[in-house]
Amino acid sequence: MSFDLSARLAARRAEHLYRQRPLLQSPQGPEVIVDGKPLLAFCNNDYMGLANHPDVIAAWKAGAERWGVGGGASHLVIGHSTPHHELEEALADLTGRPRALLFSNGYMANLGAVTALVGQGDTVLEDRLNHASLLDAGLLSGARFSRYLHNDPDSLNTRLEKAVGDTLVVTDGVFSMDGDIADLPALAKVAKAKSAWLMVDDAHGFGPLGATGAGIVEHFGLSMEDVPVLIGTLGKSFGTAGAFVAGSEALIETLIQFARPYIYTTSQPPALACATLKSLELLRTEHWRRAHLQALIKQFREGARAIGLELMDSVTPIQPILIGSSDRALRLSQLLRERGLMVTAIRPPTVPSGSARLRVTLSAAHSEAQVQLLLEALEQCYPLLALDSNSTCESVEPHNA
Ligand SMILES: *Cc1c(COP(=O)(O)O)cnc(C)c1O
Repeated sequence: MSFDLSARLAARRAEHLYRQRPLLQSPQGPEVIVDGKPLLAFCNNDYMGLANHPDVIAAWKAGAERWGVGGGASHLVIGHSTPHHELEEALADLTGRPRALLFSNGYMANLGAVTALVGQGDTVLEDRLNHASLLDAGLLSGARFSRYLHNDPDSLNTRLEKAVGDTLVVTDGVFSMDGDIADLPALAKVAKAKSAWLMVDDAHGFGPLGATGAGIVEHFGLSMEDVPVLIGTLGKSFGTAGAFVAGSEALIETLIQFARPYIYTTSQPPALACATLKSLELLRTEHWRRAHLQALIKQFREGARAIGLELMDSVTPIQPILIGSSDRALRLSQLLRERGLMVTAIRPPTVPSGSARLRVTLSAAHSEAQVQLLLEALEQCYPLLALDSNSTCESVEPHNA
C-alpha cells in the first residue's frame, strides 16, 4: 500500500474495479429510486420482502415508544434489555437450540465467535469462497489459518490431517456470491471424524431454506452435534439488522465471557429487536413467502436458460449470471440500467478474478410479471455484450460493487 492515494485510486479505476455507491432515494423493495431514477431492482438481500413491511415498521415504532431509541450501554453493563432477551429466546426457538446470542451485525458475530473459540496453537479451516468477515475472523484469531477447496470435503480432510490444537471448520451455509449450498452433511461428517467443530454462517439460508425458514441446518435435518456453532444474520431475510449465534449453553456463555466484538460494543437499539421479533413471526407463519420465492426462482432459471445465459448451480434466491471480465459485467449492468432495471455487477476482489458476474437476487416481494420484465431485458441486452466485446466501457461510469 502507499500514501499516494490518488495513484491507488487511479489504478483501481484503470482495472474497472472502482466502486461507487448508488444513492437509494426510496425504501428497499422491488421498485426503488436510485440516483434520481425509478428502477426495478434485483439486487438486495431482502429475500422475504420484510425490510419495508408495515407490521415490522409498526413494531419498530411501538418499540421506540416503549423502550426508547438507544441501547445505551453494552449488554454486560446495562444495555441488555427485555426486547433483546425475548429476541434471543425466539431465535433459540427458531433454531431448536438451547440458546442464542444477539450481535450488532454479522461481521461482528463472525469475528466474535471465531476469535472466542480458537487462538494461537489452534487451527481454523475455511472454504476458500467464504464471506470476507469469516476470512478476516480466521486471520484475526491467530490460529493457523488455511483455506480448503470450495465445498470439497476431501480437500478439508487433507487439511484436517495436518491440523494442530483445536480445529474450527468454517463455512458459509449458502455462498453469498454464488448461491450454491454447502454440502453440510459431508463436511460435518469429515469434521466430526477428526473431532473438529463445524461453524456455519447461514446469512442467506435463514428465510429461504428449511420447512420453517430455519435455514440450511433445517434443510438437511442436521443436529447441534453436526453443527455446534450456527450463525444467522438479521439484515437479509429478516429485513432488519443484527446477527446471532445459536448453540449450547456453554457456547453462548463462552461468547458472553470472551467474544470481544460482543463485549465491547453498545447493544443494538431495543426497538430494532422489537421489529425483528415481528419479522421473525412473519417469516415463520407466512409460508406463502417461501413458496412464492421458490416459484420465482424456477421461473427465472427456466427463462434464463431459454435465452442462453450462464447460470450457477443455485436453488436459492441468489442467481448470478457469470460474465467473466469486470468491464463486460459492468457493461451488462449498465445496459439493464438504461432499460430501467438494477442488477449489481460483482467484481474482484469480492469474487475470484475472471469471474465477474451480475448477482441477480429474487425476493418474495417480486411479482412474476417483474421477473418476466427482467428476463425480457436480459434477452435484449445480453447479445449486445458480444457485439461490443472489443469496446471497453471507459464511457460508462461504474456504479456497482
Ligand atoms: C452479509 C453477510 C455477513 C455480514 O452480515 P452483516 O449483518 O451485514 O454484517 C456475514 N456473512 C455472510 C455470509 C453474509 O452474506
